[in-house]
Amino acid sequence: MDPISPLEQSLHAARALVLADLVAGDVAEADVVSLVEDSIAQRRWWVEQWPDGAAFVAGLVAQDVQDALLERYGRWPLCPVCGSGDPHALDVEPELGPDPHWVCHKAGVKVASVGSLGPSLRGTTSS
Ligand SMILES: [Zn+2]
Repeated sequence: MDPISPLEQSLHAARALVLADLVAGDVAEADVVSLVEDSIAQRRWWVEQWPDGAAFVAGLVAQDVQDALLERYGRWPLCPVCGSGDPHALDVEPELGPDPHWVCHKAGVKVASVGSLGPSLRGTTSS
């Protein structure tokens, strides 16, 4: 068997993280999953040109999917932190860096790592 290259590992990880957040937000429908696949395909090309960027792929895919969803579905993921005011989406930070997080710029807080949005979206009330 061929070993999986670090590049493929980073792409697999990015896909898994972003899908986990989509599932958490109940938007992981077939056409949405295909948006993730489109992004992965584009980022595969990108990271082949720039292997040092492998750690940045998850954050980039999250932003690609966010942009694509904005056109078809609406804002995603909606901020679970701000209880009132206009609904707004979380942003990925850093835009180009390792260990991406979802942040709310309005409240100025880190909400969750990309891939770990589930507990935040389900609410942080006592359990
Ligand atoms: Zn917010």
